[in-house]
Amino acid sequence: MTGIHIANGKDSAGVALSLSVINGVISDPNASLPTVDADGLTVAAGFIDIQVNGAYGHDFTEDPTSMWAVGSRLPEQGVTSFCPTIITSPPDRIAAAQKAIAIRPDGYVGAEPIGLHIEGPYLSQAKRGTHPKDLLVSAAPRQIDTSEIAIVTVAPEIQGVLSFIERLVAAGVVASLGHSAATSDETDQALGAGATLGTHLFNAMAPLTARDPGLAGVLMTDPRTHFGVIADGIHLAPEMLRLAWRSAPDRLILVTDAISATGMPEGAYDIGGVPVTVNQGAVRNATGSLAGSVLTMDRAVAVLMETTEASLKEATDAASLHPATALGRADLGTLSIGARGDVVLLDGTTVVATVVGGEIAFCKESDRLRGMPRDP
Ligand code: ZN
Repeated sequence: MTGIHIANGKDSAGVALSLSVINGVISDPNASLPTVDADGLTVAAGFIDIQVNGAYGHDFTEDPTSMWAVGSRLPEQGVTSFCPTIITSPPDRIAAAQKAIAIRPDGYVGAEPIGLHIEGPYLSQAKRGTHPKDLLVSAAPRQIDTSEIAIVTVAPEIQGVLSFIERLVAAGVVASLGHSAATSDETDQALGAGATLGTHLFNAMAPLTARDPGLAGVLMTDPRTHFGVIADGIHLAPEMLRLAWRSAPDRLILVTDAISATGMPEGAYDIGGVPVTVNQGAVRNATGSLAGSVLTMDRAVAVLMETTEASLKEATDAASLHPATALGRADLGTLSIGARGDVVLLDGTTVVATVVGGEIAFCKESDRLRGMPRDP
């Protein structure tokens, strides 16, 4: 039996909580195990980032094998699972990512890649954002190799989209709607075909209008979906984040949409081969469009709380329980007995320690570790 004990914490609602992780899963408290002292800290389920393009100087579309180097650092943000995101790119990049995610480095300790998020190429030219124009495809493919893919973002107005969504869903892939000028009718049909997610609400979508709520309006009001939001204080005006939150606090998912510049000095970077500049926390391409973020998940939790009425429990659920639910992963995003041992210890919204599958993947204050078999 291997395990750790997390003692003297409180849950995200402020109730006293101790728990153990034994053989990788959340278990009843066992104080005889090596112990993490969570006195004064919140003990929450580890965060899940379903849209991350890279970080710490690495871009997953350029080099999919870098997902492991980045994953080893994501616990600094409280992230314990992530979907490496590949943006519109030549087909060989997706194949390379499918290969890279299956080759786990020996002794890897870090956030778990739980399936790729393929964003493109089946997107609207009009709402492509920074996706390369010449690589977009206006008709859905007849066949797609879905191995290692968790999410595909597709625009509802793409030709043949309904049968494409049906095939994705039948293969266990979540179809997410985004980069789209779709009407509400087109969106409704895509949901009818089985789409259950929206990609970065309001960004790269048609605006809400009086008689056509469009993709954004349907995502906010239709209980069949979850939707991602980039809560970095830049992608959404505070009023729009409040609108999203108040419309569906149980279906809102915090995502970072982070690029390689995340955790790095500001300046010139590259996202999937597109040159971008990071200045005052905003990432823009040559035309001035926002092109991903340098957001971290712990910051997204803080921004949601600062901007809306969300409590710490509600904000951390938006970073853990909600993405787990959207992906159909009952074993993640919860501290229930039997769930995967993914835990984040927070001081306010500051990450103090992160445990992935029972392993300490990050610890800011090593004096909180007692009897650990190795010094993390
Ligand atoms: Zn996007």
